Amino acid sequence: MIVPPHVAAMLKRIRARFDQASIERRMGGKDTPYRALRPVRTASRKSVLRFWEAFGATPEDRDLIADEAALAGAEIYGRNVENFIGTVKVPVGVIGPVRVNGLNASGDFHVPLATTEAALVASYGRGALAASKAGGINTAVLYEGVMRTPAFRFGTMIESGLFVEWVVNNVDRLKEAAEATTRHGKLVSVEPMIDSNVVFLICRYTTGDASGQNMVTIATNAMCEAIVADCPVQIERWYIEGNFSGDKKASFLGMVTGRGRKVTASVTLPAAMVERYLGTTVRDMLDYGQVANLGSHLSGQLGAQAHYANGLAALYIATGQDAACVSESAVGFTRMEAAGDDLFCSVTMPNILVGSVGGGTGLPSQSAALNILGLKGEGKGAALAEVAAATCLCGEISIVAAIAAGHFSRAHETLARMR
Ligand code: NAP
Repeated sequence: MIVPPHVAAMLKRIRARFDQASIERRMGGKDTPYRALRPVRTASRKSVLRFWEAFGATPEDRDLIADEAALAGAEIYGRNVENFIGTVKVPVGVIGPVRVNGLNASGDFHVPLATTEAALVASYGRGALAASKAGGINTAVLYEGVMRTPAFRFGTMIESGLFVEWVVNNVDRLKEAAEATTRHGKLVSVEPMIDSNVVFLICRYTTGDASGQNMVTIATNAMCEAIVADCPVQIERWYIEGNFSGDKKASFLGMVTGRGRKVTASVTLPAAMVERYLGTTVRDMLDYGQVANLGSHLSGQLGAQAHYANGLAALYIATGQDAACVSESAVGFTRMEAAGDDLFCSVTMPNILVGSVGGGTGLPSQSAALNILGLKGEGKGAALAEVAAATCLCGEISIVAAIAAGHFSRAHETLARMR
């Protein structure tokens, strides 16, 4: 058999539902009138209700999303979203306190996690208990730098070279143009990358306590405009982002050099605590860890970890971070090694993009979630990144223990299904 059986099975399933004529009718485009929604930039109670009328939705559905709090806050929410129609309620659980002994985060943190995945909070909470009882998680921000990578196209490779020479000779002026757009953003390096007649400029910024994606875009745009105004080399086209920076996707560049904050978090769990709080042994966790590492290598993972995305997505949603950045933040390396009879556990995460100001952090419930952590506002960005990594370490400890002990499926059955 040359054709794999799943291909034939898929064709059979499609054929059971459609003949050729019905497929062509379905995919041929519709000629019924199409009425686009009228876009709304500045939300108000009235604009919200107008949308709901346009849907023809039931009053019950409307009231669940456009409840009184959403209607009353329409103008505030409308600053973070277009065509605002209300808010969805994502359940929020809490773990901890997670004891963190960090360069930036120091203390016990109740971590709010917004998720619809049962068992997630229980699992992270179990890891938090073991790590905190063991004395807490040591954390450090090792690097910070948010990238924007504009691209410039030239007629020839020689022009690419002349352009790079001009950029290098004028970098102080370019830094000035970029930094004129922001009080907190600082352009710390501009690294040219030539590919024949295309040049990428890898621009790295520190962004204060903001996650900084808007900040670096606005600053880089000003820098590019200064280049276009003054550079004598003929630029055919330029683009604010050459899809090189790793914004909203996992990339080797981000993993190796860092994008956002690079954070390391570690704890040594005494053997007795592994048994008492995790229901398994150091030996069993190490044995499973070896197989899990093999699996990550064989499957070509970027990094090697179990489920950073679970904790990060829940923390990002609860605290008003850009949830789409989980795609790049959920990259890194988990290590578990014997430390005598005990278990050393660490995560190193090079792409944590969080802010204690800006983005969605000022929205009402997101702001309240940051207040639970005590990490809202000026001077708290680095601490929030360390708490994010510490939270991920709790999740790694718990999942490795659960799978090593053979409890993983049972926990989901009990917590997710049996309810
Ligand atoms: P932002 O809310 O656009 O900017 C942060 C604001 O906070 C700036 O106005 C900044 O002023 C101010 N600020 C006050 N105190 C600060 C402090 N201590 N540290 C840093 N800034 C301080 O947020 P952002 O972090 O730049 O961007 C995050 C948002 O960008 C996310 O919501 C995400 O969805 C979105 N995003 C945008 C892009 C894009 O390409 N534009 C890509 C991905 C995501 P100064 O600038 O004067 O310092």
